[in-house]
Amino acid sequence: MKYLVTDDSKLARLSLIKSLTTCQEDAEIFQAENGELALEILKNEAVDVVFLDLTMPVMDGYTALPLLIEAKPSVKVIVVSADIQEQARLKVLNLGAIEHVKKPINPDKMKKILESLQ
Ligand SMILES: [Mg+2]
Repeated sequence: MKYLVTDDSKLARLSLIKSLTTCQEDAEIFQAENGELALEILKNEAVDVVFLDLTMPVMDGYTALPLLIEAKPSVKVIVVSADIQEQARLKVLNLGAIEHVKKPINPDKMKKILESLQ
């Protein structure tokens, strides 16, 4: 599986990647620091799953989410955010995200997410 980890925080990206590789050693992982770069990578690489932060400069997650799905309808987008209020959750699910999970994602949480993808 090919994953794209999108977050403006390098630390957040590395933390998520650590959990991801703990659960799946052979995961192929791309990184983007905003929605615009994520879109570019999605168009050029066979990405299966996108982990998407909401608050980012240049292009935030709310803006990027529908564009990512439009660019690749089969892609699975998991929103990863500190803001897990019901309103934010409904908004991202309406925009096409398959899940909305709270930061940070530890290996246990990642394992459940990966299982839900199968
Ligand atoms: Mg952010």
